[in-house]
Amino acid sequence: MKGGLVMRDLHFKPIVPLLLLLAFLGFWLLWKNPSHQELHATTRLAMGTLVSVSTWGATEAEDENGVNWVFSRIKEVESWASKQIPSSLVYKINHSPKGTLLEVPEELVTVVHTGLEIRNLSGGAFDPGLGYLVDLWGFGNGVAEEGKIPETQKIAAWLEERNKHHDFGIQWVKTANGGMAIQWGGFAYELDLGGIAKGYAMDLAMESLKLSGIPNALIVAGGDMIIAGSKGGKPWRIGIQHPRDHNKVMAFAEITGDMAMSTSGDYERFFMANGERQHHILDPKTGKPSRSGLISVSIQTSTSIKADALSTAVFVLGMKEGKALIEKLDGVEGMLVHENGERWKSPGFKGQWLEGS
Ligand code: ADP
Ligand code: MG
Repeated sequence: MKGGLVMRDLHFKPIVPLLLLLAFLGFWLLWKNPSHQELHATTRLAMGTLVSVSTWGATEAEDENGVNWVFSRIKEVESWASKQIPSSLVYKINHSPKGTLLEVPEELVTVVHTGLEIRNLSGGAFDPGLGYLVDLWGFGNGVAEEGKIPETQKIAAWLEERNKHHDFGIQWVKTANGGMAIQWGGFAYELDLGGIAKGYAMDLAMESLKLSGIPNALIVAGGDMIIAGSKGGKPWRIGIQHPRDHNKVMAFAEITGDMAMSTSGDYERFFMANGERQHHILDPKTGKPSRSGLISVSIQTSTSIKADALSTAVFVLGMKEGKALIEKLDGVEGMLVHENGERWKSPGFKGQWLEGS
């Protein structure tokens, strides 16, 4: 018996350290070799903001392929949805004479229809047709940098034109080949998809990652983000910026699985004039920056297109009506911050306030 044991010990002794050494070597190689790195992060400029794509568990080649696809889809959306690019479809629509009939692709129909759906849900607080007004204030065309408030008469003229129609002022027409055409309604209905197209692009971006075989990812573009899967079995951890202190995180969320989150704030693009913060979220009822009292609104829901538009809508609606809209909608959660210090989040919102924030 004893002899047998000794024999076995002798037999196994050199193998154990060898296995240990091999295991160590394996771990070391995995760690050193970037093609087996588990977290990849890429940041590039797109849609006028920094877009960062983090993937977990993909090889370097998979990640590179997925990320390139993400940015090419984002660029594609930008190329037709931006109202600043003269070759874009939205530019073409906005610069056509009133009443022009223009055939449009399904993508544009989807984005504008979703925008109009949120417009109806929010009683007009969100509106995809504020192009003229947004330009008047200089947001999106760089004029805001000069810090000038538009002439009151110009805002009044826009509001007057707006009030002539009960509906949105543009018509959809089915074409003979089954497609869709838009009949343009004039300057009071210039398209501005700035509050919704980024969200749509984020949905396409995440879809591209999934189709390229990457199920675990986080894409962040300014205040919008979309999440899938996990970070190596752990949730993705996301900070929500303090609306009055750039360097501070006000809340954080830990999320696993499919979810989109969008934050709208009055601190992203603004200038000071007349002692007031003139920011980029406009109230279609006044033609001026929203004065609902809310300074930050985060929305969580299943798609980025809805999260994006709803965060803008709730921002304009304010605390009371904003809360009511969130509570009314299935699968929509929100976190609201008022300038008077009041804070609210819906029970299903995935996230915690940071102590002392
Ligand atoms: P960000 O673009 O900074 O993420 P939002 O998603 O809140 O911010 O969208 C703001 C943009 O949407 C503005 O820059 C403008 O182009 C457009 N916009 C402003 N006010 C409204 C509104 N009430 N409804 C729809 N779009 C709006
Ligand atoms: Mg938005």
